[in-house]
Order: sequence, then C-alpha cells, then structure tokens
Amino acid sequence: MTNDDVPPDITRRAFVGAMAVAPFATALAPRRTHATREHAVVIGAGAFGGWSALALRRAGFRVTLVDAWGAGNSRASSGGETRVIRAVYNGKALYTQMAARSLHLWRKAERDFGQRLYHKTGALWMCADDDSYVRKSIEPMRMASMPLEQLAPNEARRRFPHMGFDDVRVAYFEPEAGYLSARVACEVVRQRAVAEGVMYRAAWVQPGEKRGGRLVDIQCSDGSRIGADHFVFACGPWMGTVFPEVVGRRIVPTRQEVFFFGTPAGDTRYEPGTTPVWMHIGKRLVYGVPNHERRGLKVADDTAGDEVDPSRLDRVPSAAGLALAREIVGARFPALKDAPLVESRVCQYEASTDGDYLIDRHPGLTNTWLVGGGSGHGFKMGPAIGEHVAALVSEKELPHREFAYARLEPRPAIAR
Ligand SMILES: Cc1cc2nc3c(=O)[nH]c(=O)nc-3n(C[C@H](O)[C@H](O)[C@H](O)COP(=O)(O)OP(=O)(O)OC[C@H]3O[C@@H](n4cnc5c(N)ncnc54)[C@H](O)[C@@H]3O)c2cc1C
Repeated sequence: MTNDDVPPDITRRAFVGAMAVAPFATALAPRRTHATREHAVVIGAGAFGGWSALALRRAGFRVTLVDAWGAGNSRASSGGETRVIRAVYNGKALYTQMAARSLHLWRKAERDFGQRLYHKTGALWMCADDDSYVRKSIEPMRMASMPLEQLAPNEARRRFPHMGFDDVRVAYFEPEAGYLSARVACEVVRQRAVAEGVMYRAAWVQPGEKRGGRLVDIQCSDGSRIGADHFVFACGPWMGTVFPEVVGRRIVPTRQEVFFFGTPAGDTRYEPGTTPVWMHIGKRLVYGVPNHERRGLKVADDTAGDEVDPSRLDRVPSAAGLALAREIVGARFPALKDAPLVESRVCQYEASTDGDYLIDRHPGLTNTWLVGGGSGHGFKMGPAIGEHVAALVSEKELPHREFAYARLEPRPAIAR
C-alpha cells in the first residue's frame, strides 16, 4: 500500500510513528525494503488470518490461505453477525492506536470492496461506580485523535431516553465507535485476497516437517503437504490444539453466550442510530449491539465462561445465561423487561492467560508466527494486525512486547 491510497487521517507511517514514541514501542528493523516472491502460508481465515493473508499479498508475498471450515464459519470466534469496534481500552495506548488505525482501514476497505462493513452508532460507556477503565483512556484517545465525551447521567438520559441509567454514576460517549458486520467481513476479505492473487484451500492443517529450526511444510487433512518460506498460524481458539506443547494452555477457548431480544412491533427506538453500542461496567462488564438486520437487540456478558472444545461444542445456550441476559436487558432497556428471546448464539473467546494478544515468532521455529489470543476483543483489530504481521514477516518491524510469547504463562490444568 502506498501513502497515496491512504486518506490523511491516520497513515501507516503516523501509526508506526505514534507507536515509536510510546514507551512500549516496537523497534523498527528495516532489513527488507522491497517486495519478495517468497511464499507465505497463512492457516486460518478468521479476522486475524484473513487480514494477514491480504496484507502479506500486498507486501509482495506469494500467499496461500488455508482454513478447515471457511472464513467466518460458525465454529470460529469471528463467526458472529456483529463485533464491536471501539478505541477506549483501559488506558492501553497500543490498543487505542491499533483500534484507530483499524477503523481507518475498515472504512477504506468498505470503499475498496464496495461493501458496508462498519456501522457507526457511537458507543455509550456506562459506569456504575469505578470509571477508571474509560477515564484512563482519555489521554490515549486524545493522542489517537479519537473523540470521547463525558456525560452526566441526566445528559445521557436526555440523549437516550429509552435506556436505563438508575445504576449509572457516570457515562462516556465514544462517537466514532460502532460495530462491524463480522462474518460477512471475513468472507469479503477472503474473496478480496483471492482476487488479488492469494491461493485459498479448504483443509485442516498440522505443522509438518521441521529442519534446522525452521518449519519446512504443513500437512493437510487430504494428505497433501504445502511447503513455504514463512508460516503464519492464526488458528483462533484452536491455537493450543495445533501447538499443544508451545501454546497449550496459554490460549484456552471459553464458552460465551449471546442473546437477541425481540423489540415491540412498530418501535424503531432500538435501531442502529437511535440505540448505540453500549457497555455497562459494574460487577461485571456487559454489552450490547442495536437491532442489526432486525435480528433483535444483542446482549452479552463479557465474563469468560467454562472451557470448551470449539470443534465439538453443541452450541445450546444455558438457562442461567438466558436468565442473566434478561436481567441485563431489563436494566438497560426497561421497556424490554419481558421481551421475547428471538435468537441466541454460543461462541467462544480464545482467551490468553492475561487477555492480551499473542503475535510473535514461534519460540523454536524462526519462520513461523503465532497470531492469536484475541480474548474477546480481537475482531476489530484485524486490519491493523494484518499489516503488523506482514511487517513482521518482512522483517520491517519487531514484535510488540505486549504481545510477546515469552510473557505468557500457561494456565494451570483444570482438575476434573
Ligand atoms: C461472543 C463473542 C463476542 C465478541 N465480541 C467482540 C467485539 O465486540 N469486538 C471485537 O473486536 N472482538 C470481539 N470478539 C473477539 C473476536 O471475535 C475474536 O478475537 C476474533 O474473531 C478472533 O479471530 P481469529 O482470526 O483469531 O480466530 P477465528 O475467527 O476463530 O479464526 C480462526 C480460523 O482458523 C481456522 N482453523 C483453526 N485451526 C485450523 C487448522 N488447524 N487448520 C485449518 N484451519 C484452522 C478456523 O476454521 C477459523 O476459521 C468476540 C468474540 C466472541 C466469541
């Protein structure tokens, strides 16, 4: 990508520059300066892998993308209808910068792909008591030129009169936030990657032969092997299965339930635009998305649930999860206290031990990259992560300390 095709709000150079002055900065290692015809294989066509394949292709690599069940499939963590995009990040400037950069790239992708992916609704942050998660983000938001307004409960009530603020001490509004059409975006990115020359294959993949500290090839479920110069494993909740020794319990899949409640007939107050994306921080963090594509008002609890197997999980929601979701929707939207459940989904977070991503070189294989650990907040970052992965493989950037493999301790095994 040249600077000519990047609108001026946040260019890659400005983004990397902002990172370089911050204390967590990735040192730049500009060892390669021109495109290469080396072959890179990306395993996983979710938010992380799809964008990585596209960025690698644009950086000049010959690219093969492989996925077992397809981009945005129903087992994948990216396989939901919507995912929130916001830049408030508990004071973590790296994430705020990445979200701002990603937002810019999502908008650009919409124009390039001719497909609506980003729905700007704003995000309403409601804090029952402790507002430090948002307050600590004020400075990083300012640095990233992302607006953030503080609202007294009365002002919030005036703006969103159909929402409940009885237990809200302070609110903030992030106007650039919204949500992304998640599953659709994965397939659109895959199609775009193929149109730009990426080879796509459907197969389950295992790492193959290793020689001299490098991975030589991968083995596919149809018995074929694919050799390459570089390998990027973006296997979402399967990272620990694919690398049982190296990743293992550093990333575990946790059960997450999502509920959609029906809105009253003829009542348009819950549509995107009138209802924002919202987060409520109290005893737990709960959040919701407006009535996207008339599927109902989405409500979810962000707390990580029990560990699950993403391949075999029967995705039937629990009675306890539904009861909690009813409580949440009643508190946030009093008129929907007795609203019917119209849809539900059971998904999984690919939860790293500390909730931060894993984007680093495999500790024993110099040409292999581990890209995962989205931990319930990775989808929005796909475009910025893709760029970063292409820069890592091209040896133009070094891994961020925050996403380093070495920091992650495996979780203790669960006693059964
Ligand atoms: C309910 C829920 C709500 C969320 N809300 C948000 C949100 O609001 N905002 C946000 O930013 N993020 C959110 N997230 C997190 C976000 O969706 C994930 O972090 C992100 O989608 C992870 O993308 P990924 O590419 O790493 O993994 P995935 O999407 O799981 O992709 C991995 C892909 O790899 C393939 N694969 C795995 N192993 C193999 C193998 N061995 N061989 C071949 N193919 C393989 C799979 O088929 C899959 O397609 C949410 C997640 C959930 C579950």
